Amino acid sequence: MKKAVGIDLGGTFIKGAIIDEEGHIVVKNEIPTEVEKGPEDILKRIEVLVHSLARGASVALSDLAGVGIGIPGFLDDATGMAVEVVNLGWKDVSVRDPLKERLGLPIYLENDANSAALGEAWVGAGRGRDSAICITLGTGVGGGIVLGARVLRGANVMAGEIGHMVMDPDGARCNCGRHGCLETVSSATGIVRLAKERLARGETSSLNANQLTPADVFAAAAQGDIVATEVLSYAIDTLGRGLAIAAVLINPEVIVVGGGMSRAGNALFKPLNASFKHYALPRVAEVADIVPATLGNDAGVVGAGKLALYS
Ligand SMILES: [Zn+2]
Repeated sequence: MKKAVGIDLGGTFIKGAIIDEEGHIVVKNEIPTEVEKGPEDILKRIEVLVHSLARGASVALSDLAGVGIGIPGFLDDATGMAVEVVNLGWKDVSVRDPLKERLGLPIYLENDANSAALGEAWVGAGRGRDSAICITLGTGVGGGIVLGARVLRGANVMAGEIGHMVMDPDGARCNCGRHGCLETVSSATGIVRLAKERLARGETSSLNANQLTPADVFAAAAQGDIVATEVLSYAIDTLGRGLAIAAVLINPEVIVVGGGMSRAGNALFKPLNASFKHYALPRVAEVADIVPATLGNDAGVVGAGKLALYS
């Protein structure tokens, strides 16, 4: 069976795995990213990681179909460059050619959210569905659209950037420079920010501004805390509205929600479904299930591996 390497390049860890044609992980490993050492060092260690994965799977490097790499930023597919990766402090870093030269394998670059979407749509929560919108609720809101087993890339690998749909033009400034993007409200960061703003105004709440995570906000809301309840209600309603807008364009069979916040379970999915159904066209909403992601942290490497196997 053909095998390929999937790499998920993150701000903290570089995850890697050998993936087979059925989407199974044969071996996996992760190493610290050590952003401060710079791009040259990171590419060198990706090379070492690929060699060690191949050894671990007892596969000759030359027998691998290629290496897919999910990168958390903007790419130029024509040149194989990472144009801008804020988390890594990268600007115009050549990734594809140096790795291709060192490893002698085809290298496929993809946006990290697109890789994760591809993984979930292939063998995760979207398995067997022809069209999927996959989002990750983390520091931001990552998004990817998979149609007929391929991830939608668009004119310059920007398709599916759901997190940057402007939901509130008067809202907080986003990392992208615009205001009120979906991820300023509905990401983990957005929920914590909204809660802290209300605490700073002196509103009564059981929340502690000094140590605040989305899990704390969900827990406080479950105990009836009004600030936590209202923050979540706004964040989830905005997410449902954003997904409804995206769904009207794509008409997906499934919407997969991953990232740490998806662990909130019913406290997230029940109001999210209600909000989605409220805003989406009924015929769009009735075929689109909103479900939790199932691959967890492996979605990125599985999707990157698929890219190398089936591009
Ligand atoms: Zn934005």
